[in-house]
Amino acid sequence: MRFIGAIISLVFSTAALAANPWEKFAEPATGPASSIGSYANGCLVGGEALPLEGDGYQVIRTSRERYYANPVMVDYLVELAKENKRLGHGDLLIGDMSMARGGRFTSGHASHQTGLDADIWLRIGDKQYSRKAREKLSPYNVVDMKNYKIKAQKWTDEHAKMVELAASDKRVARIFVHPVIKETLCKADWPDGRDWLRKVRPWFGHNYHMHVRLNCPKGDDSCTAQLPPPPGDGCGKELYSWWPKPKTEQEKAKEQEQLLLAKSTTKTKPKKPVYKDNLKLKPLRCQDLINGTLK
Ligand SMILES: [Zn+2]
Repeated sequence: MRFIGAIISLVFSTAALAANPWEKFAEPATGPASSIGSYANGCLVGGEALPLEGDGYQVIRTSRERYYANPVMVDYLVELAKENKRLGHGDLLIGDMSMARGGRFTSGHASHQTGLDADIWLRIGDKQYSRKAREKLSPYNVVDMKNYKIKAQKWTDEHAKMVELAASDKRVARIFVHPVIKETLCKADWPDGRDWLRKVRPWFGHNYHMHVRLNCPKGDDSCTAQLPPPPGDGCGKELYSWWPKPKTEQEKAKEQEQLLLAKSTTKTKPKKPVYKDNLKLKPLRCQDLINGTLK
């Protein structure tokens, strides 16, 4: 019996260790705004909440409280939404930004840690949704994944212009979209120039939203910048390296075998996401933020 008790307490203490310390912060850390560390390993001081609805935008899934960012990002989104609306477009639906003090999400992407990343849905807000409705709204997939083609009935000119507008801003370092979206943008005509295409980078998983990443704000020495994207519009060979390779007969057979195996084994419950950041050493100021010793 004592042995079982020991096991139970061990399980509980491991669960406590695995809890995500960043999720417990309900308020931003006060102080001059600073995006500390790198996009995928850092935190945020002086964060600001984006008002949950505004001129030309609506924040999605507000209960997750991932609507904080560096004030530079808040300004950027507010201005982008206004300009986008001025062009006659529907509302921007804003998904994940950062938590109140940044850090690693328990579920989802590894970046968004310093208040300089934001997801904008590729579903366009055609009306004002209540906050409750926005909890349940589902995103649109604009890519036909089977044929690796854009879904003509989902992707519109408005989407393309929205990406152009978002990427043309000097504050933007990169925008991640699915490779098929990048290809669609590459093939379009851009009378006002196509320099901004350099910042639009192909990345898997971005067929429901585009991910906007801003440069480190000027004078923020704690912020680790990323190398600029390679020169050029990125529309050539590199883009097509993202295309799926045709499968060999051996791979097809293996796939079939795995499919049969999956069918024959009983279904297990999907596991709850676990906070996996404990092994990554955070920048010192971020550790202070967790320990409550930040000066
Ligand atoms: Zn993202």
